[in-house]
Amino acid sequence: IAKKRYNGDVEFRNVQFYYQNDKPILHNLSFHARAGETIALVGPTGSGKTTIIQLLNRFYDAKSGEILIDGENIKQYQMENLRDHIGIVLQDTYLFSGTVRENIRYGKLDATDEEVEKAAKIAYAHNFIKYLPQSYDTMLVSGGLNLSQGQRQLIAIARAILEDPDILILDEATSSVDTMTEVHIQKGLNNLMKGRTSFVIAHRLKTIENADQILVIKDGVILEKGNHETL
Ligand code: ATP
Repeated sequence: IAKKRYNGDVEFRNVQFYYQNDKPILHNLSFHARAGETIALVGPTGSGKTTIIQLLNRFYDAKSGEILIDGENIKQYQMENLRDHIGIVLQDTYLFSGTVRENIRYGKLDATDEEVEKAAKIAYAHNFIKYLPQSYDTMLVSGGLNLSQGQRQLIAIARAILEDPDILILDEATSSVDTMTEVHIQKGLNNLMKGRTSFVIAHRLKTIENADQILVIKDGVILEKGNHETL
C-alpha cells in the first residue's frame, strides 16, 4: 500500500527551544511554508538553522509553541511515519561499502534495477555512473571514498529521488566541485525539489535567488523574511 502523502504545508507558530536550561536557542519563531515551496534558511553559524530542522524531524520537541504539517501538530503523527515523509540530503551523505546500485536503492529497498537507474537519470548521476568500471555494479568502499565528493552527492540525490519524500531538507554543499559535476548537481537538485516543500540551508546565491521564501536567522530569531525581490 502506497504511503499516504503529506501535502507538505509546514508551519512554525511561536516556537521556543533551548538545549540546556540557561541558553535559549530559538525565540518565538514563526513562519509558514506552503506546499511545494522552497525555503532558504540563511544565517551565520550557530544561528539555529540546524535546530529548526531537528525540531521538524522531532529529534527534539519545541519547549513551547507548535509545529504543524498540513495543519496538524507533528506530535499527532507517528514518529516513523513523520520521518518517512521527510528526506534529508546532507553536504556529505554517508555511503556504505556496497555497489552503487545498492547505495541508491537504500532510498527504497524494494526498488527494481530499472527504478534505480531511472532515479539516477533524474538525479543526473547516471552521467558519471555509466563511465565507472562496472557501472551500477561498481563497489564503493566504506564512506564512498573512491568517488569524489560531488559524485557522492549525486548518489545521495538519486537515493532521495527514489525515496520520494514529501518534505525535503537540503544542506547545500560549501565545498567546490568541478564545473560539470556542479551543473549536474544543480540540475539533479532542481528535479529533486520540484513539487516538494524544500528547506535548504543555503550557501549559493542562486539558490537564495530562486527560493520562494528566504528566512534570515540570527541568534534564533527571524531577522528578515521575504524573497529575493522584497529583501
Ligand atoms: P551552522 O551553520 O554552523 O550549522 P546553525 O545555524 O545550524 O549553525 P545550530 O546548529 O542550530 O546552528 O546551533 C544553534 C545553537 O545551538 C548554537 O549556539 C549551538 O552551539 C547550540 N547547539 C546546537 N546543538 C546543540 C546540542 N546538541 N546541545 C547544546 N547546544 C547545542
